[in-house]
Amino acid sequence: MQLENYVRDIQGFPKEGILFKDITPLLNDPEARHKCLEILVESLKGQKIDKVIGAESRGFFFGMLLADRLNAGFVPVRKPKKLPFDTISASYDLEYGTDALEIHVDAIKKGERVLIHDDVLATGGTAKAMETLVKELGGEIIQFNFLMELSFLNGREKIKDNTIFAAITY
Ligand code: 5GP
Repeated sequence: MQLENYVRDIQGFPKEGILFKDITPLLNDPEARHKCLEILVESLKGQKIDKVIGAESRGFFFGMLLADRLNAGFVPVRKPKKLPFDTISASYDLEYGTDALEIHVDAIKKGERVLIHDDVLATGGTAKAMETLVKELGGEIIQFNFLMELSFLNGREKIKDNTIFAAITY
């Protein structure tokens, strides 16, 4: 089974000129989803993980599945003003302007072993902001993993001091 067959190209979403990789067929197929989860789990080679951090919103799907499989806590990282408790924030650059991500201040304890997950590594801005948040709380980043890496956008450069794994590379 090729995971690529469960990712659909959508031309012009969310705006003209962008080719969007749609993962909903992968979510919709139990066998493909299970295989993808196995690949992500195997990439960790049995390393212990205390917390899985998932980025809003598509990082929540496999982030939670991974946390469950790894017997780790799950931590949502969200857009500003979505999380109810005290937060810290990290901003990142967009094509035009900036955006920010937030995490609860008590989500990671100092020295905890963290897996950072998102569906897609594109320019790396989102991943870099997650790295900043985890480091500020004192977490130790064991790996970044993604369903997909769009390698032509060079996002890997922004988080280059880390172990990075992607189930599919374009
Ligand atoms: P970056 O910050 O690396 O430029 O973009 C990654 C973030 O944007 C991820 O949170 C991801 O969900 C979203 N993203 C960017 N491009 C795509 C895409 O083609 N498909 C999907 N599913 N998400 C994307």
